[in-house]
Amino acid sequence: MNPNGSINGNLGNATLHLDTSDGVLSLDGREIVLMRVKLIARLFADIMRNLPLSGIPHNVGRMLGEDYAVDWLLMKTPITGGTFELPTDLRRHTAEYERLEDQIDRGSLDPAILSAEKRMAETIREGLRHWLISLPDATLQRAWQGMLDLDIFGGWGRAKLIDFRRADSSARIDVTASFIARPAHIWYQHGMDQQHVCDFLAGYLEGEARVLFANEEIAGSEQQCRLEGGDVCSFAFRPVTSLMR
Ligand SMILES: [Zn+2]
Repeated sequence: MNPNGSINGNLGNATLHLDTSDGVLSLDGREIVLMRVKLIARLFADIMRNLPLSGIPHNVGRMLGEDYAVDWLLMKTPITGGTFELPTDLRRHTAEYERLEDQIDRGSLDPAILSAEKRMAETIREGLRHWLISLPDATLQRAWQGMLDLDIFGGWGRAKLIDFRRADSSARIDVTASFIARPAHIWYQHGMDQQHVCDFLAGYLEGEARVLFANEEIAGSEQQCRLEGGDVCSFAFRPVTSLMR
């Protein structure tokens, strides 16, 4: 290691790269951040003491989950070796979007570029929706499990898609060793030994569900948390309208 150099390593089939001059860490060219599980748990414990469990962490999780799902689909899953072939127009729009983003990254604040980038992002989301609706059930199910497999590399725990019912936009996901619930003693210190503490994950997976089912009405909730015993946290996803029935 030298102060102006870089460090490379492998993580599964992916390449980890650390630029020692600016401290940017990336995995196959995508910037990532690693964080100690304990720090995350402390942060969430502090937040959740002051908020209802459906507060900010859930919404933050959902935004991140949506972003991740869209990214995963558009980058054609180089890490998990997925078999997706994006439609030509989506590929073209994505290339155009990356060109605009690159200009912004390099400091351009030209309003025309900024609004073109925003419009292109909306076009891509719309194109994604149409494309996803046209895919067979089994393909979508495989895509979601592929997304979930990648989370393992981030140390989030192992997520498994247990139930996938596209017809009614519902699903169940079990997460073994959820990174939020893992440091149980921190939750116990906050008096949260019988609670569902992985609301961030419920939101995150809800974001993925909304993208994949092309349905903005889906809500996710944690049904069972490993803090209550066992090793698994179980999450359910279904449209809000079916919850109100
Ligand atoms: Zn949990």
